[in-house]
Parts: sequence; structure tokens; C-alpha cells
Amino acid sequence: MRLEKHVVMSGVILCETGLRIGGSKDDIEIGGMDNPIIRHPVSGLPYIPGSSLKGRMRSLLELRHSRTTQQSGEPCDCGHCNICKIFGTHKSRTNNLGPTRIIVRDAFLTPDSKDELKVANQEKGIYYSEVKYENRINRKTGKAGDPRPSERVPADTKFDFEIVLRIFEEDNEEEVLGLIKEGLSLVQREYLGGSGSRGYGKVRFIDISIDGDPFALEEGK
Ligand SMILES: [Zn+2]
Repeated sequence: MRLEKHVVMSGVILCETGLRIGGSKDDIEIGGMDNPIIRHPVSGLPYIPGSSLKGRMRSLLELRHSRTTQQSGEPCDCGHCNICKIFGTHKSRTNNLGPTRIIVRDAFLTPDSKDELKVANQEKGIYYSEVKYENRINRKTGKAGDPRPSERVPADTKFDFEIVLRIFEEDNEEEVLGLIKEGLSLVQREYLGGSGSRGYGKVRFIDISIDGDPFALEEGK
């Protein structure tokens, strides 16, 4: 099994609604809140871990292509499907699929978004995020109660993303790329991060290029 080449897909993730990728409460300092977002340990800036995007693509692709994982709740480990081949086999050790084909980098704020959020930070005292309060409506009185604060990255924020694909000799490049494109379309159609059913995490992948050539994603079906 010989590595033939790498294909590099890069672009921008545009948050069309607020995006919430939860972090750990232990990572935040004074005045921290209960539901913090994940932040870079050194800069303190929000980012999208590669594992979040990769995991979301995989789970949506499995919803579409696998009949077993919805019952088990575990990632596919059949050891022979394209999802196992590209995203890695979960537990199956008896396969000859070779190494995971996809590398999803952490996505950091674009320089523009960093500047915009910095201004908001100075003017409103928000540290590169927003705090959204959600209520539960009492079914009898119709009144809102139990306000819960939740931190998220505001709508219109942009992150730079990069996905590297390893193409091995026996791989069908079009097939590998096709599945990645489908995964991104599905994420675009659904959501990224948490609380998607409540409107969080609607994203759009824009300014995409594949090995330097511009490429536009089709709408997911
Ligand atoms: Zn599989």
C-alpha cells in the first residue's frame, strides 16, 4: 500500500447562526459560566476542533449509508465500508483498509473575524463570544422559567478550515473526495456543534478550494 498523494481542501466555515462547541468548565477562569465553549488553551480564542467537524461528518454519513450504527449508537466498525476506510475503523483490528485517509485540522478564527470580535470585546466586554439565555415555557402559565445561560460563538463568525486527504495507490480519488463533499453538504444541511435542534450551529462552507482550484459545494439532498 503506497501513498500516492495528498489532496488539500481548504476554505471558510461561516456561522449563519450562533455556534456552540462545549468546552470544559475547568478550563475557564473567574466569572466563568456553567456552559462554556471550547477555547484555545493559550490564546483563549474560540475554535472548532477538527474532531468536531470530522465526527459530525462521519455521523451524518453513517445516518445516510449505514443501517447498523443507528441501533448500536457506536461508529461503524465493519472494517470494509468507505466510511471506515476514510474516517478510520473504530474498533475493527482485522481489516486491510490501511491508515485513515482524512485529516481534519482545527479551524481557527479568520483574521477578519478575530478583529470584529475584538471590537465587540472592547465595546461590550464580551470575550469573543456571546451568552444566550434560554428558558423553559411553563405549559400551564405560558411563562418562561429556569433561565439557563449558554455561551456560543455569534452568528457571522468565520473560521478557516483545512481537510487533507491521503490518496493511496488503490484508492479511487473521486470516490474519496465524493464522500467528503457529501459529508460537508450534510453538515451544512444540518448543523455543527451542539443544540442544533434549537437553531444553533447552522454553518456554510464557503471559499472552498481543492488543491488550489475553486470549488462550490452542492446543496445536500
Ligand atoms: Zn464500516
